[in-house]
Amino acid sequence: MIKFIDQVTCDQMIEIGIKGYPFEICGLLIGTVKEYKVVEKIFECKNLNKLKPETRYEMDGKDYINGEQLAAKNHMQVLGIFHSHPDHPDMASETDRQAAWPEFSYVIMSIQNQKFFSMKSWVLNEKTMQFQEEKIDITLTENV
Ligand SMILES: [Zn+2]
Repeated sequence: MIKFIDQVTCDQMIEIGIKGYPFEICGLLIGTVKEYKVVEKIFECKNLNKLKPETRYEMDGKDYINGEQLAAKNHMQVLGIFHSHPDHPDMASETDRQAAWPEFSYVIMSIQNQKFFSMKSWVLNEKTMQFQEEKIDITLTENV
């Protein structure tokens, strides 16, 4: 399971998706791992894909490093990557699967007509190398 520490953090991610429409946006989910992953910070990264930014993203490596450093400074880690699917469902694509790293959570937001529609989180099953859906919990909690 992956959990957003509060609604504000979740909304920050959604805002980035809406703002970037009709292009795919991407960023890092930063936080801690307890019995489950807790997302405490959202870090936006540039999508460097110029050819098909409506359906592809290519995360800026420099942004990734900056995000990793921010995580380390806060005694946190990069838990995964979020990106948007403008006018497409929140299902992981074959491209997403091939680019996926083990243990990372891949949160995909479906943004339809510049509005948030739905989201799902995907984790690679290391045995089958297929994506498995991971439950997202956005219940508000005071002390995680
Ligand atoms: Zn995708």
